[in-house]
Amino acid sequence: FPPEQVRNFGIIAHVDHGKSTLADRLLEVTGAISASDKNKQVLDSLQVERERGITVKAQTASIIYRHNNEDYLLNLIDTPGHVDFSYEVSRSLSACQGVLLIVDASQGIQAQTLANFYLTMEHELEVIPVINKIDLKTANVEKVSQEMHKVMGINPDDIIPVSAKKGTNVTSVLQAVVERLPSPNHIDKASYDSSGLLKALLFDSTFEKYRGVIANVLVMEGQLRKGDHITSAWLESKDNKAKKSYEVKDVGVLRPESENTGVLYAGQVGYIVCGMRSTSEAQIGDTLYHPKHPVEPVPGFVKPKPVVFGCMFPIDQTDYRELEAALNRLSLNDRSVLIETARSQALGAGFRIGFLGLLHMDVFRQRLEQEFNASTVMTCPTVPYKAMLKPSKKKSIKEPTEIIVKTPSELPDKVDVLYYSQPMIIATIITPLQFDADVVNLCLERGGTTISNTNISDTRVLLQFRMPMSEVIIDFYDRLKSLTSGYASFDYEEDKYEVVNLVRVDFRLNGDVVSELSNGEWSDS
Ligand code: GDP
Ligand code: MG
Repeated sequence: FPPEQVRNFGIIAHVDHGKSTLADRLLEVTGAISASDKNKQVLDSLQVERERGITVKAQTASIIYRHNNEDYLLNLIDTPGHVDFSYEVSRSLSACQGVLLIVDASQGIQAQTLANFYLTMEHELEVIPVINKIDLKTANVEKVSQEMHKVMGINPDDIIPVSAKKGTNVTSVLQAVVERLPSPNHIDKASYDSSGLLKALLFDSTFEKYRGVIANVLVMEGQLRKGDHITSAWLESKDNKAKKSYEVKDVGVLRPESENTGVLYAGQVGYIVCGMRSTSEAQIGDTLYHPKHPVEPVPGFVKPKPVVFGCMFPIDQTDYRELEAALNRLSLNDRSVLIETARSQALGAGFRIGFLGLLHMDVFRQRLEQEFNASTVMTCPTVPYKAMLKPSKKKSIKEPTEIIVKTPSELPDKVDVLYYSQPMIIATIITPLQFDADVVNLCLERGGTTISNTNISDTRVLLQFRMPMSEVIIDFYDRLKSLTSGYASFDYEEDKYEVVNLVRVDFRLNGDVVSELSNGEWSDS
């Protein structure tokens, strides 16, 4: 498949709007999977994904589609919809040139539809708008088209109405992928045939017990063949140059099971196994190339920034090493967690872990249990505060110094601090008009200030607030859902820190402070 006949695309949508179902149908009509697997949501392969009905990890599948008597290779990347996993979304989009943007015909645009849409603009991706679930009685294609036009500037004529469940119009989607999306335009055509050349982006990786690290790659120039010796920008940058290259032992495409092809050409997405053994070797965003032909590395990924911290301890201290190994393995597959060691008087040795959100924390813990058999105790989640320390001769602090406080037990004493500050977020909420006042009240109650309040149709409103992050990490989402009978959707992005009056609330058990129970509370006074 020369680059002109390749399309790399993602599917993005608010949770439950039908990404995985549409992905299944696309695989089915092209024969990649059999129709008997119907409704299995083939790309949701983790146990936690099937149980919760959400997508956590972006998965890749290659499909072959015949259009105007020519075969096209379509690489489909299924992305998570939840706010907590927008790092995964962002990462998978960097391997794409276009996306299917799916909106549910009965629900219309939701908060994550917008968040995902903004990501596509950042990545300068071509968008194919799709309205799904047109088979539902409550479907209102006309109204949803108008919303998409008003809020995202989408031309209603470009929208493809489909039913992923029934399979209606699914082939129009494939046609649009071929006709409307650009081929991998960063691919240098001249380099396609030169077997000596290689530039590949490592954009994801998983670990399997027997094969070791399996890396997902996008070949940007040249070819990647079995038997090739390759190196990476990261490996070269290391001081220790003892290990200079890897031998490619297995290479192929994901359809969605891995299928050995022996070679990947420029423009193609696939997997390689090359004897990477440790978690630290497969760096997401790394550039792979032939040692004799160094290339300019692909600009790096932005590291994800954890916003919720919790401490994790093995239930039995003798399991510490095992937990450490499991965490290392899992963090290879989920690069967005930040892991440090921690120690507690009551719970012994453990880890402090930074997550992208509460759901992310939950899912991570569940995966640890299911995939690695690790039972753990987790402390109450907190957000990272900052404290500006006063200059002090005794502590040899010459000028005001800012430190980050990840757990309440680290909070320095008030007398040593000039001021504390807390992380703020910009919350985006879409809700039916009749809940407008209730939602506004909830946000004001939680220390929010209104930024904007816009009608997106005659029945729904888009609200934006600036709020303390600590107020949304615990039960904000649940409250919002119950206030609005489940109709409101919510998304957020991080904003600046803001000065706050912070006190530590300690809990004592028989007179001793139990630091695991300490809590940061802020007050207006
Ligand atoms: P995702 O979270 O975006 O991956 O959404 P899923 O593909 O998991 O779908 C969410 C729910 O909507 C599931 O119960 C699907 O069966 C259902 N669904 C998906 N597409 C359609 C459709 O075209 N029509 C109807 N009626 N239901 C659908
Ligand atoms: Mg899904």
